[in-house]
Amino acid sequence: MQDCLFCKIVNKEIPSEKIYETEHIYAFMDINPLADGHCLFIPKKHAKTLHDTPDTALADILIAIKKVVQVLDIKDYNILQNNGIIAHQAVFHAHWHLIPKPNKNEGLSILWNPRSSDRQEEIASIIREKLSPTK
Ligand code: AMP
Ligand code: ZN
Repeated sequence: MQDCLFCKIVNKEIPSEKIYETEHIYAFMDINPLADGHCLFIPKKHAKTLHDTPDTALADILIAIKKVVQVLDIKDYNILQNNGIIAHQAVFHAHWHLIPKPNKNEGLSILWNPRSSDRQEEIASIIREKLSPTK
């Protein structure tokens, strides 16, 4: 897609520190890492979010992340994937972050604010109903 930063990276119009690619995906180092080794995995074909991304690319991305984790031999890490402005997506070409967590001060910091919900059962039944294999 024109004017998409990550499409330009895939098309080599903008340089990147490539680490891996398949027919469907491209992986490269993040330019502003939260820790050494922070890298990104993207579908080659433009997709804005996870739910726009073709299943072939989704499958390749998780497998590629696993390979890179094994190559780097890291034990503590986060996979982050932001969709939408409120959810902190800054580049609107879907991407998966692999962020090593070498210690408490580097890598991803998470603010986790659990609160009670009286809608969990209702939402679960909606999902079960819609995803039921008999439908
Ligand atoms: P997000 O907030 O999930 O959309 O994250 C976007 C990520 O893209 C950030 O971690 C940026 O550092 C990274 N990024 C932006 N531009 C580039 C670039 N030209 N090369 C590599 N990473 C980039
Ligand atoms: Zn794109």
